Amino acid sequence: MSTSSIWHQIQRQNFTRLDALATFLELSSEQRSLLLEDRSDFPMNLPLRLAQKIIKQTLDDPILRQFVPQIHEREFPADFTADPVGDLSSRRCPKLLHKYHGRALLLATSACAMHCRYCFRQNFPYESSSSDFSEELHAIKSDTTIQEIILSGGDPLSLSNNSLQSLLTSLAGIPHLRRLRFHTRFPIGIPERIDDELIRLLSTHPQQIIFVLHINHPREIDPDVLHALNRIQRLGIPVLCQSVLLKGVNDDEETMLSLCEKLINAGILPYYLHLLDRVNGSAHFEVSKERGCQLISYLQNHLSGYGAPKLAQEIAGEPGKTIIYLHSLDSLQT
Ligand code: SF4
Repeated sequence: MSTSSIWHQIQRQNFTRLDALATFLELSSEQRSLLLEDRSDFPMNLPLRLAQKIIKQTLDDPILRQFVPQIHEREFPADFTADPVGDLSSRRCPKLLHKYHGRALLLATSACAMHCRYCFRQNFPYESSSSDFSEELHAIKSDTTIQEIILSGGDPLSLSNNSLQSLLTSLAGIPHLRRLRFHTRFPIGIPERIDDELIRLLSTHPQQIIFVLHINHPREIDPDVLHALNRIQRLGIPVLCQSVLLKGVNDDEETMLSLCEKLINAGILPYYLHLLDRVNGSAHFEVSKERGCQLISYLQNHLSGYGAPKLAQEIAGEPGKTIIYLHSLDSLQT
């Protein structure tokens, strides 16, 4: 069996039915009543290996909270919207977003290995009528200011190696394009995705590649995940990590310190700690800026300079991510 067949087969083992997961996790009927059944617009999708990391008989688990829909998703406070980061207004082509100078984001696919309940792109009207990128590639070729393409989605590693090869070959032919950045969460759910064929594709690509992982809790990291990521690192590809600050998941000093230590021990640099993007149904995850600053201050006092991420917020219409500095805390509190 090819390695691609193996990870496709693993993907089919994902939990997509709440009743099956609730039984697996031995949840009581009272706990089951707090789960949200009717999110057909953004259904549960949870890889088996992540489900196996959830502590049973409780809803108070950082992995469960991130991936299992709960009734709090029905709460829609003011300031929470369908498109909190202004993706729609930056849509230059059906699958190309252009917000910031020098780089643009390619929506390589709508598919992910898992569905994160706080995902700011969960309402995005992905283009589904065409799987080719001709319009987007033409737009990138026509704009010589674009030096970097962020391969996102969805998750770009949801594409098959054949599709990825075809896309990478097209991007390699654009002379002003210097860097490709993969934004992915796939390896923490299905590390087998980093297979021989993908490694071959990455190792022969002529432009600089950068990997940015999305990991929020130290329990998402294990030897299999690190082994897979190390295969990428051994190609000389920088591997960074961005996290989202989430209530009940990673909003305490011990968890964030453990996460950053696990990352830097593996040579993965913590890059951003994002404040929550206020997408509808995610209010129960929100942590304040002040608390975010306290956590970053703690990390800076306990880690080497490279070991603490920057606290960041995406504000629609701004020319880049807004970095929240500790010395701005006083003004935040006024
Ligand atoms: S993997 Fe990324 S794009 Fe996919 S649901 Fe999670 S946060 Fe959203």
